Order: sequence, then structure tokens, then C-alpha cells
Amino acid sequence: MSALVPMRDVQAEILAAVPRLDPVDIALADAHGLVLASSVTTDEAVPPFANTAMDGYAVRAADTTGATPDAPVSLRVVDELAAGRAPAIPVGEGEAIRIMTGAPMPEGADAVVMVEQTHATGDGVEIEAAASPGQHVREAGGDLRVGQAVFDAGAVLTAAAIGVLASVGLASVPMFPRPRVGVLSTGDELVASGPLAPGKIRDSNRPMLLGLAREAGVDAVDLGIARDDEEGIIATLEDAFSRCDAVITSGGVSVGDYDYVKAALDRFGALEWRQIAIRPAKPLAFGVVRGVPVFGLPGNPVSSLVSFECFARPALLQMGGHTRRFRPEVLATAEHDLARRPDGKLHLDRVRVRWDGDGYVAASTGDQASNVLSATAAANGLALLPDGEGVAAGERVRVMLLDAPADH
Ligand code: AMP
Ligand code: MG
Repeated sequence: MSALVPMRDVQAEILAAVPRLDPVDIALADAHGLVLASSVTTDEAVPPFANTAMDGYAVRAADTTGATPDAPVSLRVVDELAAGRAPAIPVGEGEAIRIMTGAPMPEGADAVVMVEQTHATGDGVEIEAAASPGQHVREAGGDLRVGQAVFDAGAVLTAAAIGVLASVGLASVPMFPRPRVGVLSTGDELVASGPLAPGKIRDSNRPMLLGLAREAGVDAVDLGIARDDEEGIIATLEDAFSRCDAVITSGGVSVGDYDYVKAALDRFGALEWRQIAIRPAKPLAFGVVRGVPVFGLPGNPVSSLVSFECFARPALLQMGGHTRRFRPEVLATAEHDLARRPDGKLHLDRVRVRWDGDGYVAASTGDQASNVLSATAAANGLALLPDGEGVAAGERVRVMLLDAPADH
């Protein structure tokens, strides 16, 4: 048997082979989670005009000198300005304009007195606190100035980032598009729905992998189930290569007699078949056919998930322009023994990580066999157990987080 390849080596090989998609202009409405392909500077100021941060009165600060609740200053109210209105008249000496948050500062006024420090009187107002110039005024360009750099290339468009781009009037920006990723199950035993005939099982990998792909921010395409037949798999892949940026298959990559995904990729002249030093998910077929990366994941559902997480997900993120491609890792305290046997492999045990007030704690979610998907569904992390006897209760263990840690 050939030597097992370390996980990090396989990850590096795949990332070196996977191309980044060409940037295109994408509308902000479709951009959440995408990556900017060029830097952005603004040719609009935010805010575009000086405006008030408070509901109150726009005044000339000098007119309010010495004002207190006991000795208020009386000003004449000459207008009212709601947000969205342009000022019609200036504030003259001894005058004030009633003004609502976000309304433009009228000419002549240099401060706002909040309504709580005033007292309305007929057509006037009593100001009960002295204002300093600039008080409660948001200056034009106070958030972003014209010509200012807003984001560097490579920035991930979070919700707040999209809000910022909208605030400077950009409706679309050059971004790395969402990769279109086809997901195919293979196996004569699989049924998509309905009753189970003898020997048949349900196809759990395809819905799971479609979900994992979407979670990675890609546009996932359901390619259905292919039978264990080399020509059929080749035909399905041919079609997939013409309309997908990447393809993920499951099943048919071990050393059984009906493992035709490997054979099909071999026929495309692209097969890189690896036996990786991890458990689960030892076998992986990978290749790039006509510029389209293909990930032949193992069939056992837990192996499929772990293989997706370790090899396909970082590659899909890279295709979409992400520079942060790996799941975060944390150090957690083992709640109980995470035992294993030496076998030359890194074990990725499914665990639940929680925050216990001053650190992370990890506990196994149960049966670690590669066909037991229910224990994986309960996990929010993969504990990385190096070759050896495992990690004892109370010891620290590295965990790759698949989701946010539980808060209790
Ligand atoms: P294979 O890699 O094709 O030999 O499959 C390994 C194991 O995973 C077998 O027990 C298969 O029945 C099972 N398996 C393969 N594909 C799927 C799938 N899509 N859903 C559930 N189990 C699967
Ligand atoms: Mg199979």
C-alpha cells in the first residue's frame, strides 16, 4: 500500500490547482458574502451635507451664552425642518429653527440644542443650556470624505460593508462571482424518495452536500443520482463541466469493484487519487477537467462531510476570491477522554464545543463510525486528534469549528 499523504499536503496541492473565478460587476442586492475584486474609493461624501444628530433646535451658539434652566434664553422659531427637506431660510440672530434628526443644518446655525433642554412657548423657544459651536452637528464627510479609500480588494461583503457601498451610491461593484457547484451522488443502492426496495438506502449525501455548498456561499446545482456505470457517470460529468465551475461527487472512490467515479476521472485524464492520513475520509479523488475542479468525495456520509470540510470547502472559497479559506480553530478542554488508537492518521472526531464562561469545552457527540451521520448532525466541531492514544479528560484539544460554539 502506498504511503498515506498528510492532510495539509493535500489541501495545499488542491489550493495550488484551483483557479479563482474572473471578476464581474455584481449588483449589491446579490453581493452578500462575496469578495471585492478591486479596491473602492468614494466620489460621494457621507453624510452628503451637515445635518443634526438630535431632535431639537438649530441655533447660533453665541445666542445661547449663559443659558440655564433658571435663566433660559428666548429665541424666535422661524421655521421647522424635517429630515428630507432642504432649508428654505437661514437662522438669524435671536432666531432658531425646529429641526429633526437627519435634517440639513440651515445656514447661519452652528449648533443644535436637544429638545430635552428646551421649552416651547407659542412662536418661540426657551433654551435652557448653552450650546457650543458644532454641538450635535454631523459634518458633511464626517463618515467618508470624497476620494477616500473605502475597501481594499479582497474585502468580504458583510451586511455592514454592503450598507457602506450603498451609502456612497454604488449600485454594483466588481466582485468574484459565486461559483456554480454541481453536486452528484453515485451508487446503485441510492433512492431519492419513496419506498425502499430490498438492498436500497436513501441518498443522504446529496441534500447534505447541497446544504454544505450553500453554507459556503456558492450557487449549488443538483445533478441527481448517477448509477454505478462508468459511461453514465461520464455523460453526467460531461454535462456538468459545461455548466458548472466545480463538481462534487460522492461515492465510488474507494477500492471496491464498482467504484466508477475514479475510473471516470481517469478517462478524463485528470485523476489525482489520494489516500489521506485522516480518519474518516481517507480516499479522495481530485482533478481539474477543462478548468473545472472535481472533488470525488467518499460515500460514507460522515466521510463525505469531513472531506467536503477539509478539501472542497477551502477550494470553493478560494474560487470565490476568499483569502480566508479555512474554518477557524480553537483550543478546547476535553470534557472526557477522547480516546483513539495509533494508526498513522489524524482523527477528526465529531464534538460539541461550548463556551463555559472562561474557555471552550469539547465533548464527543457519540458514535464516531463513518456511517453514523446523526452524531455528526449534533456536532459543531471536528476535534483534531493527532496520531497516538488520544486526548485525556481535562487536556487541551484543537477543534476546527463548523459552527458557532454553543453558549451553555
Ligand atoms: P462507496 O464509496 O460508493 O463505496 O460508498 C461507501 C458507503 O457509503 C456505502 O455504504 C454506500 O452505500 C454509502 N453511500 C454512498 N453514497 C451515499 C449517499 N449518497 N447517501 C448515503 N449513503 C451513501
Ligand atoms: Mg458506491
